Amino acid sequence: MVTLTIDGRQVAVPEGTTILEAARRLDIRIPTLCYHPLLRPLGYCRLCLVAVEGAGKPVTACNTPVAEGMVVHTSTPEIEEWRKGIIEMLLSQHPADCLTCEKAGDCDLQDCAYQAGVKGPAWKAEVASLPVLRDNPFIVRDYNKCIVCGRCVRVCLEVQGNAALELVGRGIETKAGTVDPAGLKEAGCVFCGNCLQVCPVGALTERAGEGRGREWELKKVRSICSYCGVGCNLTLYVKDGKVVKVKGYENPEVNNGWLCVKGRFGFDYIHSPDRLTKPLIREGARGSGNFREATWEEALDLVARELREIKESHGPDVLGFLCSAKCTNEENYLLQKLARGVMGTNNVDHCARL
Ligand code: SF4
Ligand code: SF4
Ligand code: SF4
Repeated sequence: MVTLTIDGRQVAVPEGTTILEAARRLDIRIPTLCYHPLLRPLGYCRLCLVAVEGAGKPVTACNTPVAEGMVVHTSTPEIEEWRKGIIEMLLSQHPADCLTCEKAGDCDLQDCAYQAGVKGPAWKAEVASLPVLRDNPFIVRDYNKCIVCGRCVRVCLEVQGNAALELVGRGIETKAGTVDPAGLKEAGCVFCGNCLQVCPVGALTERAGEGRGREWELKKVRSICSYCGVGCNLTLYVKDGKVVKVKGYENPEVNNGWLCVKGRFGFDYIHSPDRLTKPLIREGARGSGNFREATWEEALDLVARELREIKESHGPDVLGFLCSAKCTNEENYLLQKLARGVMGTNNVDHCARL
């Protein structure tokens, strides 16, 4: 363990802990934009600069490990001035879109500016306006709002193992982009959406959620993805009883908040008008004709009768039972019980079996 002092308070942390992590243990807030607890810290944004006695110059708290006897000051007048300057510089080339931006209310740049008392850019940089990219059904990319934190690049490489993104351009023109300028698909993107989940601003946002509710209007409901057996934890964003977007829920026991394309974007089935709401029976001999609506009683009687006849004629092992992840665990349990205990077959499978 290493003992150090942060803002006059002593703390002992394991060797290798960064100043930022040690400060968070003391509930001392150091602002960050590029830092993400599950990604490699790079110290890009410089917002986490802190003063370390004897160091000569400020250091970035997110990637500087603690040292025995270290004395850290996280909020001196000089440090606060630097932070304000960094935020003003970011705003100098940032569109003032907060009124209509999908990220408003959940934006780290907004929060940092508010905390630092920054009212706006100190000057306006001359940067070309970039087109907003809607070249795929899932992710909107507005790199005018990119603050070059590199989180999207890191998550794609370090978590998704995909390397579809990189920082492109030079100097003030630098922005995030795709390794193939033709687009995300061409760059090998698998549309997991983990990049938009870590983007701290409105540069990467969900297409499905566009215009469907401000952050503070959306009810957050914790849930589990129903597509496969991993059981990724997620948060449903709901407005007027309808799911408008999905984000990963950071449960370190399961998925740490990361999702795949199905879990994040495949929720339109929930409110699809094509969903069956009544049982249908196909008419004609052994289902050769058209569907017609039926009551549950009639449909269940028919299924029971057919299953009994097939079992008696050909034996139980010609039957197979398929369950669905979209049913509850209890319903799935009951279906396999019906297959094994009543029909006498072990032919049971599940769409979520990996
Ligand atoms: S990204 Fe944040 S600061 Fe920029 S316009 Fe959107 S809400 Fe405002
Ligand atoms: S959606 Fe996933 S694979 Fe595509 S760029 Fe983002 S992180 Fe990479
Ligand atoms: S697109 Fe978002 S996550 Fe990627 S570098 Fe820009 S601000 Fe950061």
